[in-house]
Amino acid sequence: MTNQHHKSKPVQGKTYSLFGINNDTEHYYNLIRKLTNDFLLKCPYEKKLLSHVQSAGGKSTLIKKLSVKQMDKPLMSFINKTLKATLSVYTPGVKSHLSKIPISQKLDPIIKTKEYQYHLYMIEIELINRIYKKDFKQSAYKFAMIAHCLRDFRPECKSVSGDYESICTGCTKDCFIHLGSTLLKKYDIHPYISVSMDLDKPFNKIQREHGSSGALGIACVPELAMGMRLCIKLGIPPIGIPLDANRCARWMKKTHESSFNIQELEKLIL
Ligand code: SF4
Repeated sequence: MTNQHHKSKPVQGKTYSLFGINNDTEHYYNLIRKLTNDFLLKCPYEKKLLSHVQSAGGKSTLIKKLSVKQMDKPLMSFINKTLKATLSVYTPGVKSHLSKIPISQKLDPIIKTKEYQYHLYMIEIELINRIYKKDFKQSAYKFAMIAHCLRDFRPECKSVSGDYESICTGCTKDCFIHLGSTLLKKYDIHPYISVSMDLDKPFNKIQREHGSSGALGIACVPELAMGMRLCIKLGIPPIGIPLDANRCARWMKKTHESSFNIQELEKLIL
């Protein structure tokens, strides 16, 4: 494993923070793995559990909703109760945020994400990582889309245009985009800074030019879950790591420094 000692400092987001009440995000990742294992004891097929979790999480223009008959109501009731009891500590700002959404953002589905949806998305991301990791690794062209907000607070950012999205030139040693890009390149994953609102375009172009391709996303929880669904719809195996907190200008009035867990990223791509 690469010697990545860079640890994130605790940060609070507008609605969520993977630090919760801890000084690191390891507790979060360990809890998500344990909860997913517990749910798989009740529903042993990962893809079936994913369908239930996606249907219950909603915002499913991209996924086929399970009919009410197919929905395992006792399972989902157990999952929702368990998630509320265990994950609310990571989503302390949702209620207050939802009560103050300005009119200009009322139609933004990401901004309107409800607390139970954050919890379901957290499990969805873990399940998708487990299901698609092998296909991602076997893809002929592996690329990563890293949220641009990880660099926005740096007015001196020296990124340049790349084939599909912007590319980091590594101008600042401690920038999380640079740290992530350096690690990703070691594993033959092509890193891009995601700036397009409409990811269909770069994804379709990548598929046209490379055929078999796999995507790695680094974005806030609801954006990552939606991006992974889009990849699955387009036939691109996705994996991803959520940002430690949502702190960009879309959520807060201005962009604040954010981070992600580099050690978890390396575990995912090893
Ligand atoms: S290290 Fe990369 S992403 Fe970060 S500020 Fe420099 S060019 Fe921009």
